[in-house]
Amino acid sequence: MKIMAQMAMVMNLDKCIGCHTCSVTCKQAWTNRAGTEYVWFNNVETRPGLGYPRTYEDQETWEGGWVRKANGRLTLRAGGRWKKLATIFSNPKLPSIEDYYEPWTYDYATLLSSPASSTFPVARPQSLISGKQMNIQWSANWDDDLGGSLEHAAKDPMLKGIEDKVKFEFEQTFMFYLPRICEHCLNPSCAASCPSGAIYKRSEDGIVLVDQDKCRGWRMCVSGCPYKKVYFNHKTGKAEKCTFCYPRIEVGIPTVCAETCVGRLRYIGLMLYDADKVLEAASVENDHDLYEAQRDVFLDPNDPAVAHAAEQAGIPLDWIEAAKKSPVRRLIQDYKVALPLHPEYRTMPMVWYIPPLSPVVDVVRDTGFDAEDKGNLFAAIEALRIPVEYLANLFTAGDVEPVNDVLRKLAAMRSFMRDINLGGDPDASIAEAVG
Ligand code: SF4
Ligand code: SF4
Repeated sequence: MKIMAQMAMVMNLDKCIGCHTCSVTCKQAWTNRAGTEYVWFNNVETRPGLGYPRTYEDQETWEGGWVRKANGRLTLRAGGRWKKLATIFSNPKLPSIEDYYEPWTYDYATLLSSPASSTFPVARPQSLISGKQMNIQWSANWDDDLGGSLEHAAKDPMLKGIEDKVKFEFEQTFMFYLPRICEHCLNPSCAASCPSGAIYKRSEDGIVLVDQDKCRGWRMCVSGCPYKKVYFNHKTGKAEKCTFCYPRIEVGIPTVCAETCVGRLRYIGLMLYDADKVLEAASVENDHDLYEAQRDVFLDPNDPAVAHAAEQAGIPLDWIEAAKKSPVRRLIQDYKVALPLHPEYRTMPMVWYIPPLSPVVDVVRDTGFDAEDKGNLFAAIEALRIPVEYLANLFTAGDVEPVNDVLRKLAAMRSFMRDINLGGDPDASIAEAVG
């Protein structure tokens, strides 16, 4: 057993209001420089939607992008007769600046010159591209303006196979926000794909960084990261990425995104894990087993044998104590309500999510009860507004059972707390029913 420590984050999606404060404060701190205008180390996506860069989850359709092999693994696609050479020497297709977006400003002249209209704003986003003034058709989180209901949202790759469960009519649409940073993966494909050895995972806390002196601008990391969380600075010619705000973490303060989060939904903490088990867990045959396989590499610091082994491995005592109390560890390991984003990418991501317990459309409409009513608690889960299959496509490689388990726990907790808040006796059988 090789015990290592890892900084991790859990985000509770029910609490995200999509205000983008996290993105803006991160940008002010880290990418407020020439060459990184289009870069959002932290972005917030409206789902369903195409994400940022758009269609990053659909890299199988990109020429030279990712392709799924017969055994279910994702691998880089090599094009035509170039095969391996194409993969090695000409970087597989990268997202273009149009897939991210060209930073733009409004053409304010149209505010004065446009004819009266029942819709607004009339100012159009415009940018100077190759010397030409262009109307902008896309930017980071363009989907927000589309309300999760129209053309772009319908093209969300995570809707594949569940189209019959989704209705793009206003009364029945669903949406939620998905904030994303680099996953600081246990098995980071960005580092594995860098020919210069410039990307490294810090041994003390697992934060993944780019050594700016070693980076030669190959951009293999950009195509190699399935989450598309490495960005190319076109002024310096180097790759850049989220640093988990390591200068702040080192002096005991949280990341900028967590500290400024309006919804208070980001939990930060330490996890202990067995590094010897990582590759085995990342290689399990069936995608549906990946979530549990990854959870199993985590160790419980409350187990005296683990705490002792961690101390022997050189992990500071106060870190071991912090791991015991870590809210991230409790949400992932004890309560089992947090799930990894796209475990099927097999990089073992370390930013996990509590899925949203959305309004229960049919039950609310037909009976007036909601998901907190204990009489309808479990029936209600069946009528969730967000299809469970959609959440499963994001968090458990399509396996609905673990998502259902989490949603039942969240509903039970709400019901339990409602009883307390209303001054009644909480019904312990509800909590017992969901373990
Ligand atoms: Fe690397 Fe991408 Fe994982 Fe971040 S999310 S550690 S950039 S592979
Ligand atoms: Fe969501 Fe918090 Fe970011 Fe606002 S600051 S968008 S609530 S994660």
